[in-house]
Amino acid sequence: MNFVSEALNLSKFSTERLEERGILRIAFVKHPFFSDVVDAVRIEKKFGIYEEGTVIVKGKDRLRVFRGFPKIKRILYLESGLKKHFGSTKIALEEKMNGYNVRIGKIGDEIYAITRRGLICPYTTEKAREKIPKDFFEEYPEHMLCCEALGKASPYVPDYYGIEGLEFFLFDIRESKTNKALSIHEKEEIAERYDLRMVNILLKTSAEDIENIKRVLEELNDKSREGVVFKDLEMNLPPLKYTTSFSNCGDLSYAFKNFEEYGRDFMLARIVREAFQTFEFQDNIDNRAYRLGKAILDSAVESIKKVKEGKEVTEELNLTFSSEEVLELFKMHLKLLGITFREIERKKRNDKIEAKFERVMRATTDKIKSLLEGNPW
Ligand code: ATP
Ligand code: MG
Repeated sequence: MNFVSEALNLSKFSTERLEERGILRIAFVKHPFFSDVVDAVRIEKKFGIYEEGTVIVKGKDRLRVFRGFPKIKRILYLESGLKKHFGSTKIALEEKMNGYNVRIGKIGDEIYAITRRGLICPYTTEKAREKIPKDFFEEYPEHMLCCEALGKASPYVPDYYGIEGLEFFLFDIRESKTNKALSIHEKEEIAERYDLRMVNILLKTSAEDIENIKRVLEELNDKSREGVVFKDLEMNLPPLKYTTSFSNCGDLSYAFKNFEEYGRDFMLARIVREAFQTFEFQDNIDNRAYRLGKAILDSAVESIKKVKEGKEVTEELNLTFSSEEVLELFKMHLKLLGITFREIERKKRNDKIEAKFERVMRATTDKIKSLLEGNPW
């Protein structure tokens, strides 16, 4: 762990303490596919300036620190929330896309993809090597591309966009060691020049322009999109986020399908968001009530039905790999994450390998079973 002390400028004693307290964890599965990485640890819980998900890498050429992607605060009431935070500063409304957070950087000779909690993911890395031009890192060796990864072949989040495979949508470019973000203007210029897909910028305005801001959110909701991240154009202030009713209800639907796997807090927060939005947008409360009720009941009833028919509540994953090697490595990676999937099918198609995984929602299945047998809650 000497490389951690050196990279973070900590005494050997402090590093040992962090290790003992379980804050430093292994960040990857050792494998030839990760041949540029000699060692890598991640920070499990924010400490000092270092965000959760920060990764410290002993690369074959040099030490690297990839800071965790900062938490984005949410506002529930737009009118006062935006003014209070941004004042009269110019802001951009960026589309908030619903996938999973990936930081892409170059270690040694290759591209690596790190997920939110700070693990180097083999599957995402394989896709990033196919999609991200390496020459960006020749110009910006100290930077990382912060992207939302999404599509039908996403292992972690279902697809809402009808996108084949897995795509990366750039939303921030940050210096990996300091987490300092480039301005929105610089980001747009780079995305254009390197032909990187970027999240949509829906509007540039200021907090007073509340009517137009609300209109953008209504349009997003009509298109079944997740929401918006508000950022000042210079990227000096922390951003804020806000989600559509579609997203709040979608989360609730998912949470009630698997109600024992999802915490009470998760559900309550989304219902309260919906209440504030109903109040602020002043639209038809009956429609909203119906939509919210449907989201909760339909999915929960579907799970009850499934268990009654003797089946289990499950999630299915369809992934495409370019080699058996990465597929096997990904399975080890899931074990490291503590997620239990079983592989139920493997097919060769063209030169790719298609695999179907199934995750059983054990807690929800058992709970429903017990309740259907007449046991008390
Ligand atoms: P947080 O990231 O704020 O800690 P969380 O993990 O619950 O919270 P979300 O509610 O999904 O995450 O919101 C933040 C995430 O949104 C970011 O981590 C990022 O992955 C994703 N995101 C999608 N689009 C954007 C965008 N345009 N700008 C910034 N983040 C975006
Ligand atoms: Mg998200």
